[in-house]
Amino acid sequence: MLKQYDLRMTPQRKAILEILYNCRGHHLEIENIYQLLSVDLDKKHKVGLATVYRTMDTLEKVGLVSKLSMEDSPSRYELAFPEETNHHHLICLKCGRVQELDDVLTEEFKKIVLESKNFMMTERPIKIFGYCSECRN
Ligand SMILES: [Zn+2]
Ligand SMILES: [Zn+2]
Repeated sequence: MLKQYDLRMTPQRKAILEILYNCRGHHLEIENIYQLLSVDLDKKHKVGLATVYRTMDTLEKVGLVSKLSMEDSPSRYELAFPEETNHHHLICLKCGRVQELDDVLTEEFKKIVLESKNFMMTERPIKIFGYCSECRN
């Protein structure tokens, strides 16, 4: 995917992809990735926060990473491998917790939208905002 854009697999890009791979099911802020990186990389390959931001933009552009924009907090990132893109997100407005919602559950919703409005929803993930069980307690 990087090659399609004439980009190389640098140690920094590789390290970030590995972190995201090891954290599948989680949605990381750039700050989290940066912290995990400083543990992972040796001194020679140390990267600054600005580089992490730039790298994430690049990885998003080539389609390796997907970005989840939040309401009041920093964006979250996860791997965007084709077979893993079909899930939606439940986002807690109080604590920022992100949970994944299986796409199977929204098939019916897509069908209703198509039948009632003759509108075909694309495969883009849906964001649903609300309050998680802990915050409701
Ligand atoms: Zn919450
Ligand atoms: Zn997700």
